[in-house]
Amino acid sequence: MTVAPFKVHTEVILSDAHTVVEKLVTHLKEHEFLPTSREENCITYDTEYGILRLKKTNNTVSVHLETQTEANQWILQQFAARHLEELSSEPLKIVWHGHQISTSLPPNARVMCFVQQEQITPTCIRITLAGEDLAFLTTEGLHFRLFSPKNRVRAPIWPSIQDDGTTKWARGEDELSNRVFTIRYISTTHLTFDLITHPTGEAIDWIKNVQPDDEVLVTGPGGGYFPPSDKWLLMGGDETALPALARILENLPTDAAGHVVIETAGLESRVSINHPENVKLEWVDKDSAPKNALLDRLCAISPPDNTPAYGWFAGEFFQAQTMRKHFKSFLDKKQQLSVAYWTAT
Ligand SMILES: Cc1cc2nc3c(=O)[nH]c(=O)nc-3n(C[C@H](O)[C@H](O)[C@H](O)COP(=O)(O)OP(=O)(O)OC[C@H]3O[C@@H](n4cnc5c(N)ncnc54)[C@H](O)[C@@H]3O)c2cc1C
Repeated sequence: MTVAPFKVHTEVILSDAHTVVEKLVTHLKEHEFLPTSREENCITYDTEYGILRLKKTNNTVSVHLETQTEANQWILQQFAARHLEELSSEPLKIVWHGHQISTSLPPNARVMCFVQQEQITPTCIRITLAGEDLAFLTTEGLHFRLFSPKNRVRAPIWPSIQDDGTTKWARGEDELSNRVFTIRYISTTHLTFDLITHPTGEAIDWIKNVQPDDEVLVTGPGGGYFPPSDKWLLMGGDETALPALARILENLPTDAAGHVVIETAGLESRVSINHPENVKLEWVDKDSAPKNALLDRLCAISPPDNTPAYGWFAGEFFQAQTMRKHFKSFLDKKQQLSVAYWTAT
């Protein structure tokens, strides 16, 4: 067993400790995240970032974290603190014991500068950011989180790690906008991503007003990894998934096989993607195809007999739910990933 070098814990006084922990377990279950072990008052999760253990007494919840990296420690600290704060009916005092993070900025965060934007299709703006020491983003993670000031007139205040291990985030007028995007191209100094335009939104406001050298904060990687290339891949998504699908397809080995369906608004929004010969790439035009054509096409495709398959989908919340249900009707739940990238309001 690998010994985790980073171990921190906190004890949070909570009058409704039992209820808060049960709400948290239920919430995680709704996101298909189940405990690896559960004893009467101790619940353990083995996450992709490390071990998260919750212990409850009548009026205390203690949270123990064990991780391999500082960055993963910070991610789990944020995850635990945010959920306890959201699920509790009272203000909480959280102090992390044993924390060793010596930087002021979170370990998986970099301040970067906006360099340029280019309209690459009628619905897609390609954005380049520059920074230093981005090696931590060049791993298998597909996505990153972009933090930008909501109010351009005020200088951004970035999050800072306090002596007690908590992270202080700007509030009120200095609160940061934060949205998730897919890394399209990454080097140790530059990050490129594609923003699919829609009528309104904080990310849309940001791109309309941003100027060269304006600062943003980037954290990551997170929120999904490359699917297993040794399985027959049934993948699809709407235009917000196009950057992720393009990156996945371009990184597949030449002997990979599968079928991919991508929906765009109009033929001009299709882009050229290098993909293995045995992965069929099919496009659906949202403007001219019948409603639900993307899901109908994907649901009509079956993997070849006796071939281990993997299902991958990203798009609007309702579509993602439908596809998750469909994948689970013929694949093991670990052999599929269906994620909501945005929610129609
Ligand atoms: C893991 C992950 C990866 C993602 N990668 C990308 C990416 O590479 N490129 C990309 O463009 N998006 C991507 N998204 C989606 C992106 O985060 C959302 O579209 C986000 O809501 C946009 O923020 P906003 O501030 O512009 O809009 P919001 O403030 O979130 O929403 C404002 C309004 O716009 C609507 N809206 C939001 N997004 C869309 C949309 N795409 N189409 C139509 N209406 C919309 C909402 O329903 C709401 O009414 C990704 C999401 C996830 C979770």
